[in-house]
Amino acid sequence: MQGKTCVVTGSSTGIGRGIAERLGENECQVAVNYRGSEEAAHETVERVEDAGGTAIAVRADVTDLDAVEAMRDEVHDAFGQADVLINNAGINQDVKFEAMTHEEWDTVLDVHLDGAFHCTQAFYDDIAASEQGRLINISSIVGKGGNFGQANYATAKAGIFGFTRTLALELAREGSTSNCVAPGFISTRMVEDLPDRIKAEIREDTPLNRLGDVREVAEVVCFLASDRSSFITGEIIDVNGGKDL
Ligand code: NAP
Repeated sequence: MQGKTCVVTGSSTGIGRGIAERLGENECQVAVNYRGSEEAAHETVERVEDAGGTAIAVRADVTDLDAVEAMRDEVHDAFGQADVLINNAGINQDVKFEAMTHEEWDTVLDVHLDGAFHCTQAFYDDIAASEQGRLINISSIVGKGGNFGQANYATAKAGIFGFTRTLALELAREGSTSNCVAPGFISTRMVEDLPDRIKAEIREDTPLNRLGDVREVAEVVCFLASDRSSFITGEIIDVNGGKDL
């Protein structure tokens, strides 16, 4: 993967940061996208470089198409065309459906679905033209099973499955692939912020009896980004400790 240009949305923290670091270990050129956490994004850049890669931090709110197009131009200026796009940026605004406002619904769908739409539109030609173009979308176990208080998030994550498989059909004409990784509960701020009681329940319901680590997701994403996954497309790969068994 040496020298490949990879764009990781939402890589200032959490799973995205783990993916960026792992790509750094593979000597990739990594665009570390973030929205608000500038300092954290620069720390990710340092980690990628310490790991052996090259990186830039690029601010863009993925819900804003103009900002995403400006990000693409920055990536082109720094590294040239992208080979890999990882749609990872995400938020949750959990509330029981009966109390959910339209704003909470829209905000979550916008980041996950409009965000994936904007970024994939912006980098589609790059991925299609790359010899080993890769689109990788981060969904969630919740997209398959639903989850109490997450009607907005589960709907967005389920949408990512259809998006991934459709893009797999369309990108296949160009010899590029589109796959999805569906993590279970991973130890990041998104999960750490949950009440201890809920975290204990999640551990109990997970056959491997623990939360996942960002590196365990990053490993699968890097495999999909590499030429080792060349005949895999349209797949949804679970990384969930057996939580759905
Ligand atoms: P996290 O630590 O909160 O990281 C979220 C990242 O997304 C941050 O870098 C954040 O950047 C970025 N982001 C949020 N809104 C954005 C926007 N509008 N534009 C650009 N960047 C934006 O959460 P995480 O757990 O690593 O989640 C990463 C992805 O994995 C998400 O898609 C999430 O749904 C998915 N996932 C997580 C879990 C889990 O258990 N943690 C499980 C399944 C799936 P700023 O801080 O700079 O805003």
